[in-house]
Amino acid sequence: MSTNNKRLVILGAAESGVGAAVLGKQRGWDVFVSDGGKIKPSFKSVLDEHGIVYEEGAHTVEKVLSADCLVKSPGISDKTEVMKKVRGAGIEVCSEIEFGYRYKGGSKIVAITGSNGKSTTTMLTYTIFKDAGLDVALVGNIGYSFARQIAEKPCAWYVMEISSFQLDDIHQFKPDISILLNITPDHLDRYDYKFENYVASKFRIAENQTNQDYFIVNRDDKAIQEYLSTHSINATTIYFTMNDNTTGNDGGSIHDDNMRLLYGGDYFDMSIHDLALRGKHNQYNSMAAGISARIAGIRKEKLRETFTRFKGLEHRLEFVATIRGVDFINDSKATNVNSVWFALESMDKPTILILGGQDKGNDYTEIMDLVRKKVKAIICLGVNNQPIHDAFDSMVDTIIETNGAAEAVHAAYACAETGDVVLLAPACASFDRFNNFEDRGAQFKEAVRSL
Ligand code: ADP
Repeated sequence: MSTNNKRLVILGAAESGVGAAVLGKQRGWDVFVSDGGKIKPSFKSVLDEHGIVYEEGAHTVEKVLSADCLVKSPGISDKTEVMKKVRGAGIEVCSEIEFGYRYKGGSKIVAITGSNGKSTTTMLTYTIFKDAGLDVALVGNIGYSFARQIAEKPCAWYVMEISSFQLDDIHQFKPDISILLNITPDHLDRYDYKFENYVASKFRIAENQTNQDYFIVNRDDKAIQEYLSTHSINATTIYFTMNDNTTGNDGGSIHDDNMRLLYGGDYFDMSIHDLALRGKHNQYNSMAAGISARIAGIRKEKLRETFTRFKGLEHRLEFVATIRGVDFINDSKATNVNSVWFALESMDKPTILILGGQDKGNDYTEIMDLVRKKVKAIICLGVNNQPIHDAFDSMVDTIIETNGAAEAVHAAYACAETGDVVLLAPACASFDRFNNFEDRGAQFKEAVRSL
């Protein structure tokens, strides 16, 4: 074990913070962890096990400001008092992925970001790599943190889900392959309500890449197109699109229900009907994951096998049950308007939409056309449903208020006829009524199963 006698302070003792603490301690840093709230017992025991000093319930300012380097949890905003002091003192601030990056050695990184589809694409990419026999770990927002994985079980490849918050404090972090899925408004409260700041933050995924690295990016996304028209990218850029790839360049495209991935002059073709993942959004996710796999040298047969088998994650357009001819679908993870657009787009039956929760300032204009065409009733699940009434009262005859998942499921079922679908796709965060989106989805499924 090396020592560097330098002081590493970590703000926030959850997965990423504890991971950075464990890695820091292993690499000889003098580590101190500070959490303003309560630390979960499972994380405390990891800290104890490694002899890492920590505090909880408040940040002791002198201790925090003694840092040579500070790793902050992505959940902590720069607007907090403690972060204002840290910035004021000029301390180097790193996100956990930046800290991990410095110790990753010769391993390679596939890093995935976007407003929607990160978890699905990360899991799909990881599954393709794993099924193909590569030495690979799943890290970031799902799975272990990057830093903890490096400390405990380094791998040749890391497939990593990253949020814009993790990108906000990178310095050298450079993925070998980066994927940018899409950019639609989300989390604007952290970006001074300026969409362009959020867009710039997402593009930081490519900021340190060189032409030896790959940047796989959605050519159909408006915000991405606009950014690229005024900024240049150093990485070898590979596009995916729903439009025909007439250029013959490397990339992904969908034409006549065929998904084509072209890399290094070699074609991979597959009918979209053979993809186990359903929905247009998942065709985008599949193209991005598939191109990264081809760059990593994964054989076409292997890729095809995983595409045929991988059905997606819980709470993302998850089929629950058919009850007396009515389908129930759990898309509790649809926490913004754009993900609801894709959910509705993929519905091919009259839809009863369960909508609402903690509103992040939603603009529902984007889904109005689809609501007009497909939605026969809206069941409101939020505490304050005024925004839903304001947007949809004039176009949907039946809008019903409910007080929880069970009541919402009953109300939806009462409106439904054989051949309809009940879709939970709230477009909002869950925290007004539920612990998190998983809790919301679980309560929904439980209520469906007890109908
Ligand atoms: P994230 O990790 O970015 O939140 P998830 O894979 O968990 O992404 O999916 C979140 C929500 O967005 C789900 O409702 C899912 O059905 C939807 N979704 C998945 N991929 C996309 C995409 N490429 N574009 C838009 N919506 C998507």
